[in-house]
Amino acid sequence: MTFIEKWLRSDIKNINAYHVPESKNLLKLDAMESPFGVPSDLKEEFLEYIDKAEVNRYPDAASTQLKDTLRDLMDIPEEYKVLLGNGSDELIQLLALACNEDDLIMSFEPSFVMYEMVSKYAHLRYQGIQLDSNFDINLRKSIEAIKNKNPKLIFIAYPNNPTGNAFDYDAIIEIIKTSDALVVLDEAYYAYSDRSFLSEISNFSNLVVLRTISKIGFAGLRLGLLIGSEETINQLNKLRLPYNINVLTQASANFLLQDKERIVKNAEVLIEERQRLFEELSLFTQLKVFPSQTNFLLVRCENADSLHSALITNGILVKGFSPDSALSNFIRISISEPIENNALLEAVKEYYGE
Ligand SMILES: *Cc1c(COP(=O)(O)O)cnc(C)c1O
Repeated sequence: MTFIEKWLRSDIKNINAYHVPESKNLLKLDAMESPFGVPSDLKEEFLEYIDKAEVNRYPDAASTQLKDTLRDLMDIPEEYKVLLGNGSDELIQLLALACNEDDLIMSFEPSFVMYEMVSKYAHLRYQGIQLDSNFDINLRKSIEAIKNKNPKLIFIAYPNNPTGNAFDYDAIIEIIKTSDALVVLDEAYYAYSDRSFLSEISNFSNLVVLRTISKIGFAGLRLGLLIGSEETINQLNKLRLPYNINVLTQASANFLLQDKERIVKNAEVLIEERQRLFEELSLFTQLKVFPSQTNFLLVRCENADSLHSALITNGILVKGFSPDSALSNFIRISISEPIENNALLEAVKEYYGE
């Protein structure tokens, strides 16, 4: 046995590291990144703004200005408090840190893999409740499972990744009402979705809402936010590392997130493209495209693995799922701007010989 094998917490040896596929020279349609970067008409002003950031100083520990910017961008009511994370992934981890040793974290399956991964990192138990065949919540089964297992935390991605749909609103309300868990509504795709639970925070003391700027054009900045009551956020904030949002992220986000109009417009473009791509892909009898309230589409196909590889050969990277996954015959495609979506459509056409 090597030193590290002897030394390491035994369960860590069995964890598979989060896999990020090679994407060099490929059109990236695998990770829900936005195609829209810093607008060219703002580039100079942006650089001047960033230039003022003092990298020799620690950042503002409270990120005061950035929180105000986010409140404006996302219409966060004044009565709620905000906790920032280095991506919402860090906030998922922070929530796990708040749990006791034997606590259970629950979510739905299939959903965002990070809930289970973070549970493992924090040495907590995890259990996923199976979604039904339309990827919706089976309320009776879910309530029963939650009552039996008594989780400490329940993560609900709304809309859900990787399925793209938004679960039934009233079913979620029922879960919040009947559970003693802290329920985390993960609204990473809020910009592409019809509804939000933000306004419900004042109705339920066990509800917090998680958001990120990753899916609205700023994945590289690594910035997520947890929104909750003042009391809840004050307690959770004790677990945050003091300077977790760095100087360059604070400056960049402060500048770029002011441009609400453009951010909203970009989301509208992607929502329109989502509809177009949904219709175009649905024309292939070999494909079953699922309704989406996100900036991606989940597609079922025979030989998903072969289509996935063929797309890579054509320079396009979409998300495939491992052969032992329940989604092994699915691919997930990020929605991009028209020219990139057309490239995808062409490649799919070529694959099916049309
Ligand atoms: C992408 C995604 C996240 C991760 O967001 P980061 O802020 O980039 O860490 C969180 N939750 C869901 C459901 C996601 O799809």
